Amino acid sequence: MNLVLFGPPGAGKGTQSKILTEKRGLPQLSTGDMLRAAIEAGTPLGLACKALMAKGELVPDETVIRIIAERYDQPDCKNGAVFDGFPRTIAQAEALDAMLAERRRKIDLVLELKVDDAVLLSRVEARIKAGGVLRSDDTPETLAHRLGVYYRNTAPLIDFYRKQGKLKSVDGMADIQVVTRQIDDILDGVPA
Ligand code: ADP
Repeated sequence: MNLVLFGPPGAGKGTQSKILTEKRGLPQLSTGDMLRAAIEAGTPLGLACKALMAKGELVPDETVIRIIAERYDQPDCKNGAVFDGFPRTIAQAEALDAMLAERRRKIDLVLELKVDDAVLLSRVEARIKAGGVLRSDDTPETLAHRLGVYYRNTAPLIDFYRKQGKLKSVDGMADIQVVTRQIDDILDGVPA
């Protein structure tokens, strides 16, 4: 099964992806994590993306499409994957469909985590207050920018996937376990 976890920055995609990975054995393919790893490792790709990411801008479509295709061809994705933070533009979604079609696969389902802007902002503020390890793009200002980018570039994918009949929405403002249960209920109704 190939799933897309979809939603605004801070909606809880990473948290739910990890739970899905544990429960269903589907690897989490997070472009954000892959890009942060490239920055950490100091690769040319990481260097090229660092400033864009710190500002909350998207990195180029070709970059993420390439790293996703490379990752998807690893053996652990033979039964599918959970795409987290990808696709983020219509061009990325089209490239993903094409990439999967070449491999005789497809996206089975897109899970949209719905969370209001005010809640997203208060989550970032809570993280800052708690003083945990912060990402360079985890500030209220950058979140506001990332939200703008989300509504402009990424939210149009809701219609893209609705038209394909693949979109299912869950309430991302509920407690983590309640969100997980909503996702489980949806997935249990999908033929394997
Ligand atoms: P968030 O918590 O905002 O959902 P991610 O960890 O998914 O963040 O991504 C962090 C940053 O990495 C984004 O703001 C963007 O700069 C870059 N990025 C991640 N995935 C993509 C993508 N699919 N396309 C373009 N840029 C991306």
